[in-house]
Amino acid sequence: MSLRDVRHWVFDMDGTLTVAVHDFAAIREALGIPPEDDILTHLAALPDAESRAKHAWLLEHERDLAVASTAAVGAVELVRELAGRGHRLGILTRNARELAHITLQAIGIADCFHPDDVLGREDAAPKPEPDGLLKLSTAWQVPPQYMVMVGDYQMDLLAGRAAGTRTVLVNLPDNPWPDLADWHARDCGELRGLIQG
Ligand SMILES: [Mg+2]
Repeated sequence: MSLRDVRHWVFDMDGTLTVAVHDFAAIREALGIPPEDDILTHLAALPDAESRAKHAWLLEHERDLAVASTAAVGAVELVRELAGRGHRLGILTRNARELAHITLQAIGIADCFHPDDVLGREDAAPKPEPDGLLKLSTAWQVPPQYMVMVGDYQMDLLAGRAAGTRTVLVNLPDNPWPDLADWHARDCGELRGLIQG
């Protein structure tokens, strides 16, 4: 299947549609999380009160980042073109759902997504789990193989593989995961070129 024929698109948000601004090292240091630990997994394993307090800190920190979000190169034009073609667009992010909505507003493409199709960390098991993609597949009544997952990181591609969607890697000059990515584009502008012509 050509990428031009894909009518159901799911995007990672941070670093894919926006310029990555998370300083994960600083977040780990502030929350006392070892460098080798996954942040969400670490927080989930903490005692209840501590987990809640640290989640609250993370949400506040991320809210500030969300309001100040800037779009990644070509992202607004790509999303607008896909929406203009009548394609169904979703977001699957490890960020909080509320912050995903704030971010999409901040970069001016919130109207391109049905609110129910924006899945945050409350809505699905975190990538690389396929859960969120399978939920969208069910909601959209389209088999995963007719969907594409677009992301800037290995876990996005792994989630796509696990769900059985097609995968696109963006915003890395090279492709460190050729086995996981069906297509690779340097940025969303180049990706837009792949669906034109
Ligand atoms: Mg990302």
